[in-house]
Amino acid sequence: MTLRQTGDQEQDRGHLALPGEPVSPDSQSAASQARLDPPGLPSGSPAAQAVVEQGRDRSGTGQMTLALRYAVRSDVGLLREGNEDSAYAGPHLLAVADGVGGNAAGEVASAATITTITPLDAEDPGPDLAGALADAVAAANLRLQELIISDPAVEGMGTTLTALLWREGHAALCHIGDSRAYLLRDGRFVQITHDHTLVQSLVDEGAITEDDAAGHPHRSLLLRALDGRTIAEPDLARLETYPGDRYLLCSDGLSGVVSEQTLHQVLASVRDLDEVTRRLAGLAIDGGGPDNITCIVADVIDARSSRVAPTWQPVFAGAAAASGAQADLSRRPGGVPGGQPGCEEDSAHHGR
Ligand code: MG
Repeated sequence: MTLRQTGDQEQDRGHLALPGEPVSPDSQSAASQARLDPPGLPSGSPAAQAVVEQGRDRSGTGQMTLALRYAVRSDVGLLREGNEDSAYAGPHLLAVADGVGGNAAGEVASAATITTITPLDAEDPGPDLAGALADAVAAANLRLQELIISDPAVEGMGTTLTALLWREGHAALCHIGDSRAYLLRDGRFVQITHDHTLVQSLVDEGAITEDDAAGHPHRSLLLRALDGRTIAEPDLARLETYPGDRYLLCSDGLSGVVSEQTLHQVLASVRDLDEVTRRLAGLAIDGGGPDNITCIVADVIDARSSRVAPTWQPVFAGAAAASGAQADLSRRPGGVPGGQPGCEEDSAHHGR
């Protein structure tokens, strides 16, 4: 398996090792589809149990009109000069990408990936949400390939991607790299993605503990990423969602600094979504802010009975916001439900 460098050390991020097969549309799609069954999460793991709940009966959900409320935040942190994270949140799509690569190429990779997949938010993806995500990821990887061909200076760039595509209680999760998604349901907080890192593989093998992994000198070594040169191998999983579910998608600038216990405590105790994202980013800053910090927090609500309205405004954050992606989206035929997209720039939590 190809090893790729990313993460805490800026120098690591500029040295992706990228041998591998050339990317082609057919092979990308085939590879992505091949991972559909079974989902990428380890069989029987708590994450897999939390994710795959098809057929779970919750009385009354058939009469509900489910929708999302969400908030997004991206912060450059305290040590990085630029923000290589990108994020998008819209009525049907939530996505976080953490770019890697020197000379600002990481921000190119994450922004290009986010802007390539955002049409999924406005289009009808059909019944196969995971397949739609897989195709979008393959398209994003091809876009990275095009960018590398047109500008060799960005060769070596790559990005993680963790995305949730959602339609009326059904959802699909797509994940590659070490950004993360968590689910808070009925008081239980579960990481529903599996890091594609060397240290995670060592944990899975029982060679090191989770505590060892947190302080491991090679904790930033990625085993999989979107790089435009190798076939994308995202994990894909289907989810059922219910009113009251709360999702967190984040880059490792948050999950690598703030403990899972603290993430759980904040998500479970703070109702207002903007305030949740503010607190989370603030905690990562208080923890030293060594990396870019990006998070999306989203609640599943029953739009008919909820006293709060769904969120309809699409929001770009981080490098994707700076790249003018929101303007591209508003020019797209049909646009996005809810009118003009918004933009959540880096927030000023420094010095807290
Ligand atoms: Mg990062």
